[in-house]
Amino acid sequence: MFDLTEHPHRRYNPLTREWVLVSPHRTKRPWQGQVEKLAPETRPQYDLKCYLCPGNDRAGGHKNPVYQNTFVFENDFAALIPGTPSGSVAPHPLIQAEAASGVCKVICFSPRHDLTVAEMELADLRTVVDTWVDQYVELNQTAGIAYVEIFENRGEMMGCSNPHPHCQIWASSIVPNEVAKEAAAQEEYFAANGRTLLTDYLEFELKSGERLVCVNDHFAALVPWWAVWPFEVMLISRRAATGLDELSSDERDGLADILKRVTTRYDNLFEISFPYSFGFHQRPAGPRNPAWHLHAHFYPPLLRSATVRKFLVGYEMLAMPQRDITAESAAARLRDLTEVHYRTRS
Ligand code: ZN
Repeated sequence: MFDLTEHPHRRYNPLTREWVLVSPHRTKRPWQGQVEKLAPETRPQYDLKCYLCPGNDRAGGHKNPVYQNTFVFENDFAALIPGTPSGSVAPHPLIQAEAASGVCKVICFSPRHDLTVAEMELADLRTVVDTWVDQYVELNQTAGIAYVEIFENRGEMMGCSNPHPHCQIWASSIVPNEVAKEAAAQEEYFAANGRTLLTDYLEFELKSGERLVCVNDHFAALVPWWAVWPFEVMLISRRAATGLDELSSDERDGLADILKRVTTRYDNLFEISFPYSFGFHQRPAGPRNPAWHLHAHFYPPLLRSATVRKFLVGYEMLAMPQRDITAESAAARLRDLTEVHYRTRS
């Protein structure tokens, strides 16, 4: 009898239409590596050398204002540049290039250098949510912008060199790959069913409960059925909002609440400031597209301790992603953790 908890299988991701290989039997093999405990991190509230701290100098002769809550500025080393001339070349059907223009911004979440999302006050996280909404609205209305990606890269393991709490926005004239895949799947599903794909998926997950991490009135956090990263989490708005700009005031509070709760659970998992890439997926610029359902992905690399991480290499680069622990057991571990941050416990 096929058993999801015992037997190797592949699971389908209906958003990207890709499969992930799950090998639950391998978690039973003995782990030989050592489990290291990291020394507790201590960071100052203000760092003279941090280019994101209030009042400090940045590249190119810019100086940060003495900001009080969030602070938005254009990235001094932007990957996309406004006003890039449009055009394309295709010297052969197999050889194509297309100009890409856009805007890259940085949002500091707080003037405090030492805080993380998990450790910020709810009211301050709400201010971050409001800043995201304002930026999304402004950039979505900017001529030549097709998609606004808001994302946070947290921790050195993710290549983030600066611990100051911040995120980035890359608004581009192109619709990026991951968004294009999810757009196609959601549009087809909506056309066939008259409901968003994530409305029906969330209904299944709320009934099952097996993969839920935590919920409030407006958002659910869960380890998706098709998770690739060990402790991958998805936030889904319980109402089918198409973008951040459609959230009511209560829903914005709900988003701040679920962000704090998920990141606190993450930090408590290995009692470190948990690294991850996080970002929203929402409707592209242009007319309102009811097929889109606002959600966010957390992709954290850590596997079984503060130092043992998952790599997407070998079979995963050449064939397909693979995981050992099931989404259900990862969700159970996150669900069982307290929402009291370990740094505030005595
Ligand atoms: Zn997505």
